[in-house]
Amino acid sequence: MFPARDDNYAVLVHDPATGATASIDAPEEDAILDALDETGWRLTDIFVTHHHYDHVEAIPVLKEAFGARVTASAYDHARGRVPLVDATVGDGETIRLGDIPVAVIAVPGHTLGHVAYVIEDALFCGDTLFSLGCGRLFEGAPAEMWESLSRLAALPEATRVYCGHEYTEANGRFAASIEPDNERLAARLIEVRDLRMEGLPTLPTTIGLEKATNPMLRANVAAVKKALGMTDRTDVEVFAEIRGRKDRF
Ligand SMILES: [Zn+2]
Repeated sequence: MFPARDDNYAVLVHDPATGATASIDAPEEDAILDALDETGWRLTDIFVTHHHYDHVEAIPVLKEAFGARVTASAYDHARGRVPLVDATVGDGETIRLGDIPVAVIAVPGHTLGHVAYVIEDALFCGDTLFSLGCGRLFEGAPAEMWESLSRLAALPEATRVYCGHEYTEANGRFAASIEPDNERLAARLIEVRDLRMEGLPTLPTTIGLEKATNPMLRANVAAVKKALGMTDRTDVEVFAEIRGRKDRF
């Protein structure tokens, strides 16, 4: 994982047995080409999470340079919003990186065609789940995003979570406004501050840590509902309230 553009992360996933190498999204050609040069890996695949420009910008250059196979959601391909797609995927499908299975989970909300990829114990979730936050609802409704986040939260707690952006510090300021007394959140905020002061990434995070600290995953927690004065409201209503407050924060 390495920084790209202003606050995106690029990730390369490599299968040593076959030499297959995937870029998760394609945020910036220079950063990805440099990483490939440094590792000596040859890019075979690009797994696209969603169509936003900062996730697909480098596809044409990388495809030209390596002939890499571009995989994107069938939803986005049907709308022509990801360039040069070779293969499409949908919810529940398993594809391969070399010999390694790659599970696809549809996670509509940030966009309606958004998919996440699970490779062994690592989740690549684009702009759906961030550390201490989640993507803005550009296309989906709160109920769709809550369902998507709940499916990611159901992955094993040790799952390493690779997100599309370094937004943790700003997300943390908001998270503290929702749960000022959450001790694990307070400890995470100190850790995040120290990492960022050293210019280090706060990712990958884990599903277990996010379930304990991320307000976007905690709309079903009784203490959070109580703090918001929404004790008898549904999880989706509470999530919509938290996401709305973040938009205005
Ligand atoms: Zn996006």
